[in-house]
Amino acid sequence: MLMLLAPLWVPGMPCRAARPIPHPLGRALPVELTAQHPHLNRQVDAVADRFTHPPARSHKETLMRRSVPALLSAAAVLAAALVAAPAANAAPATPSEWREVFSPDGTISKVRVPVERKTAPENQDLGAAAAAGVVALQYTGPSSSRFDMVIIGDGYTAGEMGLLRQHAEAKWAEIASTDPWHKHAGSINVWLVNVVSNESGVDNDPYQGVNRDTALDMYFFCGGVERLLCLNEPKAQAYAAQAPGVDAIVAIGNTYKYGGAGYPSLSTVSGGDPRSGRIAIHELGHSVGGLADEYYTPGTAYTGAEPTEPNVTRDPGGAKWASYLGRPTPDGGVIGAYRGGHQYEYGIYRPSSDSLMRSLDKPFNLLGLTVMDRAIGSRISGGGTPTPDCTVHTNTRTGSLTSGGIAYQPDGSSFYARAGTHRACLAAPAGAQFTLDLMTWNGSAWQTVATSGADGRISYGGADGYFTYRVRSITGSGSYTLAYDTP
Ligand SMILES: [Zn+2]
Repeated sequence: MLMLLAPLWVPGMPCRAARPIPHPLGRALPVELTAQHPHLNRQVDAVADRFTHPPARSHKETLMRRSVPALLSAAAVLAAALVAAPAANAAPATPSEWREVFSPDGTISKVRVPVERKTAPENQDLGAAAAAGVVALQYTGPSSSRFDMVIIGDGYTAGEMGLLRQHAEAKWAEIASTDPWHKHAGSINVWLVNVVSNESGVDNDPYQGVNRDTALDMYFFCGGVERLLCLNEPKAQAYAAQAPGVDAIVAIGNTYKYGGAGYPSLSTVSGGDPRSGRIAIHELGHSVGGLADEYYTPGTAYTGAEPTEPNVTRDPGGAKWASYLGRPTPDGGVIGAYRGGHQYEYGIYRPSSDSLMRSLDKPFNLLGLTVMDRAIGSRISGGGTPTPDCTVHTNTRTGSLTSGGIAYQPDGSSFYARAGTHRACLAAPAGAQFTLDLMTWNGSAWQTVATSGADGRISYGGADGYFTYRVRSITGSGSYTLAYDTP
């Protein structure tokens, strides 16, 4: 690329701060990053009361106080009834494992629940799984070059396959409306496995003791926690495996009650509750992006080694994400090192105040967004223009365009730069064609000096002056990321 050696000042070119530079559009543009995301309905019913908590007390604490003693006492009664034997022969404590609990007000916590017996599916279950029909809710290309999202259902009878599809489409629509899923939505296959259950609904819904014969044995009151929606994980995996490719699994239950759960291989969500889709989006942050939780239990301290997850660190300076520090983040404020995360209050730091990995009604923070973007994008190839890695540059701006739309960056304004090389790249939504222009003020008008190629990149050497980036949608709409370095 041609490098021009230009004088520091050229007649006709404005001196720095000599006079105001006209705004590219003649008016202020809204800053996408500071857009507040609407909170979910925080009305909770009386039943949900146990899942809400004052700030001083964590869910875990609440649940430990209320649920676990009840569980333990029930287990003790059971043990006493079954084992009328000397204490030396007492059975070992019931093994338990952590599982996340989601509250309708968006807060998240973890509780320990007894480990479920995980047996391989029996032949009849495998046969039923093999016979289950698979339909493409969205097909964008061969699985070898696409991200494959698999949705399975439980508690839907043969006569309710239409309802299953309706619930599955609604969940996918919610996931696909959230960045960075939104950006990649045009390159994701969405498969629905028509899992047929003998009976309609899930167990313990609407109250404990209601039992139904369903394909995946889904049930509320998992571990005694009302809204924890568990299932038979091996059976669920057997059904999901019927899809041509499996990169993520979302299991939806035929219920209208709020709830869900996170497993290593999948997440469960209420099929009929419109708020429950956020649970799947959070869980996909773990399973697809390898992100850690950013909430914590008050009073706990982390003493382990530096975590491998990209979004938590022991370093109070946040050097792990040094290139992000101080940048605006979609969940509000700027990236920094905020105390608490990974379940612990002390000794560990997270990148932003309140991201989706901390509260369900918030977006991913800038770091989580980038990590998820790379993780999803890494499983997509061969379709159109590869998404450039736009994280190598110092400055980042995000926004969204409607088809044919135009935006100016940074933030609808311009910037002054010394003579030297400008480098930029634009990551556009899959399936859309966006173009990036670098423009300079020539003394009387904004003039385009460079336009991105098919790879979305610009490298331009020029004199000092005032510059602005113009992002244009040629076809398609969606969110974009612009990253750039100034000379
Ligand atoms: Zn989580």
